[in-house]
Amino acid sequence: MPAHIAGSLHAVPSPVWLPFPDDVNALMPSLWSANVTKGDDGVLRIAGHSVVDLAAAHGTPMYVLDVADFRARAAEFATVFSRAFERVGPGARGYYAGKAFLCTAAAGWIAEAGLGLDCCTLGELMVAQRAGFDPALVGLHGNNKSDEEIAYALDWGIGRIVIDSFDEIPRVAAAAAARGITAPVMLRITVGVEAHTHDFIATAHEDQKFGLSLQGGDAAAAAAQIIDVPELELLGLHSHIGSQIFDKAGFEVAAGRIIGLRAQLERAHGVSLPEVDLGGGFGIQYTSQDTPTSFAEIAEQLADLVAKACAEHGSAMPLVSFEPGRAIAGPAMFTLYRAGTVKPVDTGSGVRCYVSVDGGMSDNIRTALYDADYSCTLANRASAEPPVVVRVVGKHCESGDIVVRDEYLPADITAGDLIAVPGTGAYCRPLASNYNHVPRPGVLAVEGAEVRWAIRPESYQDMFATDPGFAPGTDPEE
Ligand SMILES: *Cc1c(COP(=O)(O)O)cnc(C)c1O
Repeated sequence: MPAHIAGSLHAVPSPVWLPFPDDVNALMPSLWSANVTKGDDGVLRIAGHSVVDLAAAHGTPMYVLDVADFRARAAEFATVFSRAFERVGPGARGYYAGKAFLCTAAAGWIAEAGLGLDCCTLGELMVAQRAGFDPALVGLHGNNKSDEEIAYALDWGIGRIVIDSFDEIPRVAAAAAARGITAPVMLRITVGVEAHTHDFIATAHEDQKFGLSLQGGDAAAAAAQIIDVPELELLGLHSHIGSQIFDKAGFEVAAGRIIGLRAQLERAHGVSLPEVDLGGGFGIQYTSQDTPTSFAEIAEQLADLVAKACAEHGSAMPLVSFEPGRAIAGPAMFTLYRAGTVKPVDTGSGVRCYVSVDGGMSDNIRTALYDADYSCTLANRASAEPPVVVRVVGKHCESGDIVVRDEYLPADITAGDLIAVPGTGAYCRPLASNYNHVPRPGVLAVEGAEVRWAIRPESYQDMFATDPGFAPGTDPEE
C-alpha cells in the first residue's frame, strides 16, 4: 500500500506564520493577478481559460502572464505617481526596471502604459530597440558598462546614462565627444540606506559595488567632475535603496540625503539639477504575511516627503523618477507545474510531505537564492481532503531545490495534479537557467481570448545550438 500523506496529527508543525486555511481549495485573491479565478470545480482559470486546457495544449512547466493585469499595473503606476508629484512640483516619471522581466512584448506594453524603461546591458537595450521604444525614455544603468554599451546607448539617442563610478566619467565624455554630442547623465549615489520590507538600516557607509558614496565625499567630487565636463549634462542624482520595500521610511531618509546633496551642489556650482531618481523597490505580496502599500498611497507619501525635504533645503522641486520592477511584473504571472513524486518523509519531528514538480530552481531560483517564500494552490480540481503542510520541490539535483517552502495543499495531492505558484512575474524567467540541461519554460501571455507565447519555451535544439561538440569546423578562429 502506498504511504498515505500523514494527517495533521503526525505532520511536521506548520511554520507559525502560515495560517491554517478555512478552505484549502480557495484562492487568496490578493496573491493572484486580476483575471485569475477559481470556481467550485477547483479549476484555476485566467481570463476564462482553464489551466487544465492550457497545460494540455502547451505543456508544463510554464509561466502564465496576465497581460491585462501587467498593463493595468504599469498604467496605474504611471498615472498615480504623475498625479501625486504634479500636486507638489513638476511631476514624476516611472522607468520600468527591465531586469525584473523583459521581452519584446513586455517592452511594448510598458511603452503603451506611459512608462520609460530602465536597462543595464546591451541585451536589454536591444530588446527595447526591437520593441520600438522611444530612446529618450530609456535609461542605462550598470556598474560595469562596456564601451560597446555606452556607444550603443549614445548612438541610439538614449535619454540618460546613470554614471556609477569615477572611471565612467571620462569614458562617457570621450564617447560623447567622438560623436559631437552632449551625453545626458545622472549620478548614482549610495546614500547609506538599505531598505527591505518594513525595516531599513541607515548607515554612514555602504560596502557594495554600486554608485558613489555620499558620506565619504565621493558623490560630491564625482558630481563636480561631471559638471566641469562640457560633453556631459548632469540631469540629477539617483538613489536605489533596496527591494521588496513595504513603506516609506527608508525612502524618507534617502530622499532627505539626496535632496540635501543636490542643494549643496546647486549652491556650490551655480547649476540647477532638474531631476532626482529615487529608484525602485516597491514590494508585492507573495504570501498572506506580506503587506505592501498601494501605489496610490505610497505615491502620495513620497510626494509629500520629497516636497518636505526640498522645503527644508530651500530647493526647487525636481522632476522625480522611480524605477519599479517587481511591483509591475511580479503579481502579473503565475507558474504552472505538474506534480510528480509525492513523498512523505519522516523528519524525526513529524512527517513532511515533499511534492515534486516538473521544474524547480531552474525556473525559480528566488527561494534558494533569497530564502523567498511563495504560496501555491492545487489548480486542476477541488478536493474534500483536509489540508496538510507540504513542501513543493523541483526536479534538480540539489536538496536546496525548493519552490514553495511551506504551504497547505489537500492531503490527496498526487502525481498528475497541477500546482500553480502566484507572484512569479519578476526575477524568475530572467534568472532562469539550463541547470541539469532543462530547457527554460516559455511565458504564455493571455489577454481576453488571445493566448500566445510572449517567450516561447526553449527546445532541446535551442539548447544544443551552442554545443557543437569538439568537431572540425567549430574553431573560433575559422
Ligand atoms: C533592481 C533595481 C530596480 C528595481 O527594483 P524592484 O525591486 O524590482 O522594484 C530599480 N532600480 C535599480 C537601480 C535596480 O537595481
